[in-house]
Formats: sequence, C-alpha cells, structure tokens
Amino acid sequence: MTTRVALAGSTGSIGTQTLDVVRAENERAPGSYVVTALTAGSSIDTVVAQIEEFSPEVVAIADEAARHELADRISGVEIVADSVDVIETAHVVVNGVVGFAGLGVTVETLRAGKRLALANKESLIAAGPVVQPLRATPGAEIVPVDSEHCALHQCLRSSVQPDREVRRLLLTASGGPFRGQSADALADVGVEDALAHPTWSMGPKITIDSSTLMNKGLEVIEAHELYGTPYDQIDVVVHPQSVVHSMVEFSDGSTIAQLSMPTMHLPIGYALGYPDRIATPFGTIDWTTLSRLDFEAPDLATFRCLGLAYDAGRIGGTAPAWLSAANEVAVECFLEGNIRWNAIADVCVDVLERHDGAIPTSIGDVIEADQVARRIAEKIVEAQ
Ligand code: MG
Repeated sequence: MTTRVALAGSTGSIGTQTLDVVRAENERAPGSYVVTALTAGSSIDTVVAQIEEFSPEVVAIADEAARHELADRISGVEIVADSVDVIETAHVVVNGVVGFAGLGVTVETLRAGKRLALANKESLIAAGPVVQPLRATPGAEIVPVDSEHCALHQCLRSSVQPDREVRRLLLTASGGPFRGQSADALADVGVEDALAHPTWSMGPKITIDSSTLMNKGLEVIEAHELYGTPYDQIDVVVHPQSVVHSMVEFSDGSTIAQLSMPTMHLPIGYALGYPDRIATPFGTIDWTTLSRLDFEAPDLATFRCLGLAYDAGRIGGTAPAWLSAANEVAVECFLEGNIRWNAIADVCVDVLERHDGAIPTSIGDVIEADQVARRIAEKIVEAQ
C-alpha cells in the first residue's frame, strides 16, 4: 500500500527530515510513500526544489508575495493559500509547523479523521481542551513526532490496560547547553551559546526552549494531553547522552525504556509507518562505543520554566496557552537580542500571574487567549 503524506511546514527542520525519511523508504521500496502536499511560509527556493523532487498535487504558501512568485516559477501543481486545504489529499498529515501557527493543521486533520503525525506540540498544549474531543472522530489519531512522546508511545504499547498499569511516565531531558550551570553564571549568555545544543539538531525556537527547559515543561503538558496521565505521575529526569528517549514505569515495578541515537528521523518514520515499523534503521546504537548512560534530577531553581509548565498544566484551561504564547514572544525577543536569557522565565512568570482562569470551549477562545497572552508578554518585554 502507498501511504499518502501531506507535509505542513516542509522547509523547516521537521519538514526536511520528513522528506529524508520518505526518500530513504522509497529507495528501499519504491512507491511506499507519496508526498501529496507541501505547505510552507515563504522559503520559495526550498519549496521549488521540493516540488521538483516530490511532485506534490498541491502546495499551500501562506505569504502572498511568495505564493505569486511560486506560481511564476512552477507549473503543474495547484497553489493555495491555506494549509488546511491540503489535508484531504493525504492518509497522514505531518504537522511540522513551528509554534502556535500549527493549530489549524492539528484541528482540521483530526476533524477530517486522519492520522496526525504531530511535531507541533504547541497546538496540543495551547488547545488541549478543544483538541481532545476531536480525537474521537472516526479515523482520527495522533502519533507524536517528538522523540520523548514517540518513546512513551512505544513503551505504552507493552501494556494492554495502561490506565491501570502505568505508575509514571519518565520524560528524559538532555539538560541542554547550560546543564550544570548556576543562574548567576547564565546571566549573560548569548544567543549563540543558547543555540549550541549538545546532542540534538533542531530549529532555533525549540533549541532555545531546550536551553531553558521550557521545551521539557511543554513536553510534560504534551504527555498529559496525549496519554491522560496526571501531572504527579509525570517526572522529568536529566539524561545528557540523549539515548534513552523516555521511559514508562509500570505497577509491577518494571520500567520500559526506548533507546536510539538522537535523530528526529526515527520518530518521524515511526509516525509515518505506524502501526508498522519502517525498514530504514535510523538511530541504530553502536553498543561497542556507547560506554555509559547518566541520569540526574533537573535543577528547578536555575531552570524555572520547567516548574512553570507544571504550574500552567495543573491550572489547566487556557493557562498552558498563555504560557506557550508568553514563551514564544520571549524567545523571539531573546533571538533578536532584545532581552536576556534569564528574562525568558521572568516574562513567563509575569504573564502566568495575570492568567484570568478561563476555560476554552472553542478554537476562537484559544486564539483569543493566545493573543491576550502575547499582548501582555509584549508589554512586559517593553517594560524590561
Ligand atoms: Mg522532544
């Protein structure tokens, strides 16, 4: 059977690695995957090369000028504005859009009863209460493209009744580039320092989130939303080698872990192939050179964002949306050199303190919560 794949965010880190997986699988078994659709913001040169290689039926380009440029340069492909218009073409939709902008693809993919290969954690985190009911749509399912949640997904398959048998989820964290450093030592770190991730190659937003541990915090919320596990049964353990991608501890004391070398190709391939495994061995471990695996507790005093995410998750309602929006604003400002690294957590604390306690009942509520939190975050940044 040929699996039809629509790829949202095709020019980003997840997008290009998804195409690597499709290319590798089709070399092993020609015709295994067809890329039916691509969506991108404005990186037209990359999109043109992708169209020439993968011949999608339809391409969605958000930026109007870029859309017209693409229409001038390419023929034989339908070009549309809205990424949700490509969903119907596919069996599986990979959501590799960065940040809250990925919400539409998440919602409409589930509403259409398709498999959602979800790399865009922000949409699930911000819109959890609204996304959850859509998972009941016949045919709809989420397979996470986040290494930790992909690991949990694999570990959980060992239990027939996870609701009764799971004692806790253990999310591993590399600790990022600043592991082991004090808050004082981190007062003056630059953008380049924060972008120098020791084990993972990812886009800039998530790499900064890894340096603050906000990424892990958002992943705690993501795990809660995906698997329904209460927050006091989700723990984070720092594991600098990034080989154990997460673990599940069961009622009988057994812990099952998933191990592989750190590459996003594996979780992408897992989500594309699910419930089968793909044939290309991404991330295979060389046990003759892997000498040790270390584990330690996270430093919650220095990396305040991790605790903040637990707070927002426990508050529920639109609190995770507020936190995620505040973080996006703060990270953008940090990347532009406008605030210090330490201020990312300060902005998030201040925004969360102003949370209005709202519970979202519609996508409109979530979008409004996102906008309100962004405006508050921007004001706090201006006052810095
Ligand atoms: Mg992750």
